[in-house]
Amino acid sequence: MTATAHLQACLAEIAARDGRIAAFLHVDEVAALARARELDAQTQAHGPLHGLTIAVKDNIAVAGQPMTAGSRMLAGYAPPRDATVVARLLAAGAVLVGKTNMDEFGMGSSTELSGFVPTRNPLDLTRVPGGSSGGSAAAVAAGMAWAALGTDTGGSIRQPAAFCGLAGLKPTYGRVSRSGVVAYASSLDQVGPLARTVRDVARVYAVIAGRDPLDATSVDVPLEPVSWREDLGGLRIGVAREHLDAADGLDRQVKARIEQALAELRARGATLVSVSLPHTRHAIAAYYLVATAEASANLSRYDGLRYGQRTANPPTLDALYTHSRADALGKEVQRRILLGTFALSAGFQDDFYQKACRVRRRIAEDFSHAWQRCDVLLGPISPVAPWKLGEKIADPLAMYLMDAFTVAPSLAGVPALAVPVGRDAQHLPIGAQLIGQPFAEATLLAVGDVLQRAFTPEAA
Ligand code: GLN
Repeated sequence: MTATAHLQACLAEIAARDGRIAAFLHVDEVAALARARELDAQTQAHGPLHGLTIAVKDNIAVAGQPMTAGSRMLAGYAPPRDATVVARLLAAGAVLVGKTNMDEFGMGSSTELSGFVPTRNPLDLTRVPGGSSGGSAAAVAAGMAWAALGTDTGGSIRQPAAFCGLAGLKPTYGRVSRSGVVAYASSLDQVGPLARTVRDVARVYAVIAGRDPLDATSVDVPLEPVSWREDLGGLRIGVAREHLDAADGLDRQVKARIEQALAELRARGATLVSVSLPHTRHAIAAYYLVATAEASANLSRYDGLRYGQRTANPPTLDALYTHSRADALGKEVQRRILLGTFALSAGFQDDFYQKACRVRRRIAEDFSHAWQRCDVLLGPISPVAPWKLGEKIADPLAMYLMDAFTVAPSLAGVPALAVPVGRDAQHLPIGAQLIGQPFAEATLLAVGDVLQRAFTPEAA
């Protein structure tokens, strides 16, 4: 198929269904079609993503296209240059379809907290697609793009991938450049791909990963090529009791799918070993202090002067700051700025922020101990299947608790992969989380591919 025909199929899907799903905040059909035609006319050697359509989360810069990060604060802004990951996709021959909806600045787990419109799950329009990269997941699940870029601070690639029946990778902290990506919590944020299959995720990952001189936190660790496997002989899969038998609030049907995933891996030759990650129960508390503390600093730049919307006719300079921020930032973002500022404030920093940092180190040590006994860990992503729109919106804590299994790998900086492992009785998709050792994405992808094909033999 030509790039143009492939893109036209995506655009037709968008025209037919995105009015209802709201996966995209911005689609520039004319620019995308011009790009596809240019690729079809190209005679030189084709890049590894030649003609493939990719949707980009709206906190990742595409030169000249509006970028809001899901916030009214940035309405009307268009960045002057591409994020490094976007430049790499373009150099590899990809066609960018558009910018996808997200919870404001990445703060949320359902994409209902977008400053513009909630996104719906294409597999069941009454349910959420997960978040915060819900627009990216919905776009791929609805056939509006071959793959998408998301960002993951505490689960925002993995959980929407799981909710929409896709694969999604949060790489090791430092593996992928964040130059040109809107910061949420800088010690946690990573960019990664979502796609239908683990193999497609691997193709995008291979293009975007690697050291970037424009991002001082990106590291220079060589990328291992993935050795795809048919069986898992010799591989040790760790099962943490805190992820299964001793997990709080884990839905019975989700648990059953994870148990079946473990059985499939064993049937393919892997050895299952029990491990413990004893600080798991503190992960949510630590994450919501570290993430909000960093967010309160990162978001201070949106002051109506240097960046962001400015309120009209403020009586004083103070009013300019406070009114601009109060008018343009959503309630959840304001709540988190308050929490983070409090956690960092003099007199409380030791009890909150510093304590959270100590818990974070314990969580990282839990994983280091586990690696002495296993090569990868397998567990759930979300404790429950995709919920109905509106169900958790009035209760922020209930929403935070949905991140119980995804935030610990983020705090530890280790890579984690969402793999679809079938449906529940209501036919809602369930994902499993494979967690790997630092920079061992190649192992994660190889195991994830075997797991996905165990459930959907037609995949990959
Ligand atoms: N749901 C988590 C939060 O709201 C994670 C979001 C993310 O990874 N960007 O912070």
